Amino acid sequence: MGKFELDASQARAVAHALENNATIIEGASGTGKTAVLLDAASQIIERGESLVLLAAGRKAADDLRTQLTLNHGKLPANVQVRTAQAWAFSILQTYAADRGRHTPELITGPTQDSIITELLTVVGQGIAWPSELDEDVMRLPGFRAELRDLLTRSAELGLSGEDLQALGREQGEQIWVAAGQPMDQYENSLALEDATAPGGTGADRFDHARLVHQAARLLTSPEAWGSGSMPTYQWVLIDDYQNATLATAALLSAVHDIQPGDRNGARLILTADPDTAVEGFRGGIAHLPGLARGSKPGTGLGAGVVTLKERHRGGEKLSELQNRLVDRISVAGLASHRRPKPGTQADSLKVLTFPGTDQEYSGIARLIRRAHVRDNLACDDVAIITRSRGTHIEIERVLRDAGVRVRPAARNEPLRFTPIVRALMDVMKEGVSGDLTDAELLALISSPLIGLDPARKRQLSHRITVWGEENESSSPVRDILANVPEGAEWAGPLKKLDEILEATRDAVTSNKNAEEVLWAAWQATDLADGLREQALSNGTTSRAANAILDAVMQLFRIAQRLVDRDARTSAAQLLDELESQDIAEDSIARTGKESGVHLLTPAMALGQEFELVIVADLNDGTWPNMKVRDGLFGAGRIAELYLDRLTDGVSGLRSVVDDELRMLAFSVARSKRDLVLTAVDSEETSRSRFIDLVVDEENIEHVESSKLSMSIPGVVGRLRSALTDPALAINDVDRELAADILASLPTWTERHLAGVATSEWIPSLEPSDMRPWESTKRISPSNAEAIMQCTLKWFAQRIGLSNMEATQNFDRGNIIHELAETYPDGDSTQIWNAFEEKWPEYSVAFTEGYERELERNDMVTMVEALIAYLSAHPGADVEKQLTYQTDHFTVSGRVDRVEPTPDGPIIADLKTGKTKPSDKDTKENAQLRIYQWMYEKETGVPTAGAKLVLVRYQDGRKKTGYPLLRNQKPLEESDEQAVEEMLKEVATKMGGIDITAQSGDWCAYCPIKTACPIFPEGALFS
Ligand code: SF4
Repeated sequence: MGKFELDASQARAVAHALENNATIIEGASGTGKTAVLLDAASQIIERGESLVLLAAGRKAADDLRTQLTLNHGKLPANVQVRTAQAWAFSILQTYAADRGRHTPELITGPTQDSIITELLTVVGQGIAWPSELDEDVMRLPGFRAELRDLLTRSAELGLSGEDLQALGREQGEQIWVAAGQPMDQYENSLALEDATAPGGTGADRFDHARLVHQAARLLTSPEAWGSGSMPTYQWVLIDDYQNATLATAALLSAVHDIQPGDRNGARLILTADPDTAVEGFRGGIAHLPGLARGSKPGTGLGAGVVTLKERHRGGEKLSELQNRLVDRISVAGLASHRRPKPGTQADSLKVLTFPGTDQEYSGIARLIRRAHVRDNLACDDVAIITRSRGTHIEIERVLRDAGVRVRPAARNEPLRFTPIVRALMDVMKEGVSGDLTDAELLALISSPLIGLDPARKRQLSHRITVWGEENESSSPVRDILANVPEGAEWAGPLKKLDEILEATRDAVTSNKNAEEVLWAAWQATDLADGLREQALSNGTTSRAANAILDAVMQLFRIAQRLVDRDARTSAAQLLDELESQDIAEDSIARTGKESGVHLLTPAMALGQEFELVIVADLNDGTWPNMKVRDGLFGAGRIAELYLDRLTDGVSGLRSVVDDELRMLAFSVARSKRDLVLTAVDSEETSRSRFIDLVVDEENIEHVESSKLSMSIPGVVGRLRSALTDPALAINDVDRELAADILASLPTWTERHLAGVATSEWIPSLEPSDMRPWESTKRISPSNAEAIMQCTLKWFAQRIGLSNMEATQNFDRGNIIHELAETYPDGDSTQIWNAFEEKWPEYSVAFTEGYERELERNDMVTMVEALIAYLSAHPGADVEKQLTYQTDHFTVSGRVDRVEPTPDGPIIADLKTGKTKPSDKDTKENAQLRIYQWMYEKETGVPTAGAKLVLVRYQDGRKKTGYPLLRNQKPLEESDEQAVEEMLKEVATKMGGIDITAQSGDWCAYCPIKTACPIFPEGALFS
């Protein structure tokens, strides 16, 4: 970018700012505030004066630095472009170097969480918490998250623990009085760790919130520095001051008055638009620009105000929308910037509503593909902005399925839940203590460290079971790892795992530190080169490889951090640190350069603009989200109280609606040309009231759902079906047309797009394995049931095809079955305790917020039903193994429960799935019939029947919480013959080559329905 073409108001603003000590350049979005700031910065650089230019985020800082570098070549040493935190950190570093101290350390969120956890364990007991907070509540991650939030907000406001206690007493808030105590302890604990670190005095440690205040304190204390060593600055420029925190204001104030009150410090230029503040949830204060005009200590900078008058982004439509939104926001100190002259570019605004969320996301995918195909719009120039990150993973999935290139959404879970990290942790755990269970060792064989496909996993697990039986081993996985069969091809993965474990064990016994042990484990996996190659390719596995490498790098970063602090940190301490983290580490990959559509929240979009912006999820309850921001500790109220004092009561309590409107005004202003607002409008969900504030009904388009796909594989699939599927009612002319279109398409290969190369069409594929199919001799009753329903579904699941929902069903079932097995008589307290222990790990599969809440409600209902059922049927024989052998096959399986009744034993099978079989279906239920048959064959005792216990559903006729039951009568003689015939049929199907689809009630929850030839969606691809 060369010199900027400034309009008259911009030129006036630059001239004013360069002539004065402190200036606020106020302008609505798109009026070129950043351009003006860059112009001022350029002139300061040309004068050879020192300058610090501050941006609201790392990306924005990178962009500003790049632009200044383009203008001036290499930037002089006296020019810094960074965030306020990075600048504060550099001040602390300079101070540490001046005083001969260690380089200060910035603690991360997870470390902060670990410190708070430890603190609560040690001192929590002695604190007079309000009576409703018992120990169970304090153990919850949510409690710590709230406390962390309070500590952060208080630190941003410059409050000490004592201040917080005083405020609590003044306001009658016992919880603030209580929280003030750990706050002091928390700050002391940073110092304590510092003092106990080896090698002398150790590093000063800060969290993000305390960092900036500390730097401000140092700049107002010249006596703390060596003579002449306190840094001074001629200019400090800051962009988007409406997003700054009180701590940043204090830092500016300090640097402006290097000697308190002298006004001889740095000259300041601030840009601001209070109407588009988006950092309120992180302590940003939209009123700060207004307060900067005054002289109040800490916030007053005595700044003059100049206003920008013309928009340079978008045209009349976007300008009008902006004006309408901003008019609804209460004035936060400054308002003369509102309603600037509109931009002159061609722009567009669309408002679309859909009947459901799925349709909304598919509609967005179609819209982006159309813009890409018709208007040649690069995906990098498109952003989807939602109020929170909660839906990003789902949007990413829908976009990818539709063939839209999209940047990976940020994941929100602690690192230990990433499969590769979990596997490396288990390897280290085995190296440290050697006590992994057989199940954990088996999980390692299935982990990405070994990289087996689902079919090989199953084969190997089967081999291990057989080996265990032959060798009468009670821990077959551990035993086979100690005696890996030599020369057997199938045992290769076991050998590899054994080598990884051996290398890790060696490192631990040689007293290597955590980083070295981790390195030994990682090197032994021999995965690095392959993953790097995949990550650099354009293939479909590139994204997965990038994600794995990202997670491994984060893991190394944590190990390095711990070892930097204490070179003797052991692998066991690293494991403790990882296990104690309840929040996510910063990802490296998601700040990387992968191209595609941006998935952003308003705060993530800071400093960015795009050709096409889609503001999505504009539903009532979601945006605006009117939930009270304050949780348990009332952190938001503290900020409000302070803000009210700062503004002498002018601001009043901050309005939630204003905050929500500011975020929306900021988001829509990210568009340079095209803007689309999307929402769901259905009986259950209403579109956001904000839509009606700014758009008339006749300009809202209600979009119906479409089954047509715009993805290339989808279109090719349709054309192929038209050409080859005789069942479709397509005339010859259209068939020929389909053939012509297919022939005219480019010759794609699988490297370009999976599933579209003719060489990948199913009729063109060579059989992958020509060996004759080995007829299976072992049948489990649940397999028999699945095969008798639909062989295709059974086969697909057997070879590992599954969707997220099926995996979650499986995990859900496991939890309920484990509880039922461990507490067969339904001990309520123990079951609830066990459930709460399992919940944190299980729940991470669900997006935080609504989805997780919903799942918890479901699980709680099921556990309640389980307890009600089990306590009504005590004394059952649980997980009873039954095996029966015929000349042709062996039937083997475990019965959930055999319950004693006066009429004889009843077989009970617990079901957690959504399928709700009818009474009629249950009479014929294959699994129950086989269990009854086996029980009689093995014990010689006839059963009194069998039943399905559907814990997901309640029995409306019984007392609340009792599950729905479906009963099957005892077998009669003719039934026994029928079961034997059925088992023969199952054995034949399992060994046969015909894999047919058979529809029924079970299709409703089938994970491969979209690929099933019976259904239209699947017909495209079959
Ligand atoms: S949709 Fe129905 S018929 Fe098709 S595979 Fe699934 S269960 Fe079988």
